[in-house]
Amino acid sequence: MNKTLRNAVIAGNWKMNKTPAETTALINEMKPLVAGADCDVVLCVPFVDLQAAIEAAKGSNIKIGAQNVHFEKSGAFTGEISADMLTALGVEYVIIGHSERRTYFGETDVTVNKRTLAALNAGLTAIVCVGEYLEQREQGITAELVAMQTKIALQGVSAEQLKKVIIAYEPVWAIGTGKTATADQANEVNAAIREAIADVYGKDVADTVTIQYGGSMNAANAEELLSKPDVDGGLIGGASLKAQDFSVIVKAASK
Ligand code: PEP
Repeated sequence: MNKTLRNAVIAGNWKMNKTPAETTALINEMKPLVAGADCDVVLCVPFVDLQAAIEAAKGSNIKIGAQNVHFEKSGAFTGEISADMLTALGVEYVIIGHSERRTYFGETDVTVNKRTLAALNAGLTAIVCVGEYLEQREQGITAELVAMQTKIALQGVSAEQLKKVIIAYEPVWAIGTGKTATADQANEVNAAIREAIADVYGKDVADTVTIQYGGSMNAANAEELLSKPDVDGGLIGGASLKAQDFSVIVKAASK
């Protein structure tokens, strides 16, 4: 595997945290800390904070993402946001299929696929999340499961469109729990995801896809996780709400 073939991407997932004013303040605090990073830096903020985030991030290396997108272009979908609405604001990234959406909001592999296609067709970069529950890990089906989740999410995505897809491996048992996969566990599953992508698109293409790890990545464990050959970045929840911690992770990815 050749890590130099792909971009390291550190993306923060702020989940349901921060008002617009707090967003401006936190991004202003982060900007000097992540300036000059040798990796892509993304912050995925709540919908109502997008405008403030885009304004605050102007002129910096921070890119802004949303945390979900609807698959239809417009219409009678109360409470939903379309991909065109996001790009009109200047949003460049969107998280799709986060386990919190799968667990609490009925997201399925099929809707993840529909959202991924809608995002890509609008020119967004899709951060597609896959990962197993603890019971599934204990059953020994993690690799099969993430391969299936990845293949379904990517159904109908062309090799050209795949250039704007990032896969985030996020073991559900590690999200927000303080339990992190070991660096070897993360690398092993990321390699299985890459193999699944290679099954469909070929090895040369698969080697160019950025595959992140997410699940209690923090300032203390980021360097080890990111040193692994198949871990190309991180999707960061809790630690992305602390400017100093987030910047340490960004620096670890820049090495
Ligand atoms: C996440 O929300 O994607 C995540 C990985 O959260 P945390 O880092 O808090 O586990």
